[in-house]
Amino acid sequence: MPMFVDHSPPGQCIFCRLIAGEIPAALVHEDEHTIAFMDIGQVTPGHVLVATRRHAATLLETTPEEAAAVMRTVHGVAQAVQAAFDPPGLTLLQANGALGGQTVAHFHMHVVPRHAQDGISFTWPRQEPPPAVLADYAARLRAAL
Ligand code: AMP
Ligand code: ZN
Repeated sequence: MPMFVDHSPPGQCIFCRLIAGEIPAALVHEDEHTIAFMDIGQVTPGHVLVATRRHAATLLETTPEEAAAVMRTVHGVAQAVQAAFDPPGLTLLQANGALGGQTVAHFHMHVVPRHAQDGISFTWPRQEPPPAVLADYAARLRAAL
């Protein structure tokens, strides 16, 4: 996981500059709240980023409207990726904070076409706590919602 996050001031971060047209991008879609463009890193062909138009560092700084708008755009982009690239799989990834794997601190979601042996891996250290522990976690979250 990358441990460096670009925390440039709002308006000067790499995606704000891209949105302002100050640096080039291969645009896919723009609307009131979102912008979609090709990831310069192209983990697989057709790899798209969908970002908020307004600078919000992470998911927690987006409004519900912006978060919903990003997912609406992701939905459309996913259909377009399927039509244009026909991958046998598709993974969405959204990272928050250095420990969450985020490297650009401007909220965005990856739409990644997937193929056999595409080299992408993600370890998932599954645990199975007892039902009482799950119930306690759920109660804490219900209280926080
Ligand atoms: P994350 O690690 O989830 O924060 O992802 C940041 C992504 O932004 C990486 O996949 C980079 O390849 C991508 N990226 C960085 N700069 C640019 C840029 N100028 N245009 C397009 N994608 C970029
Ligand atoms: Zn920004």
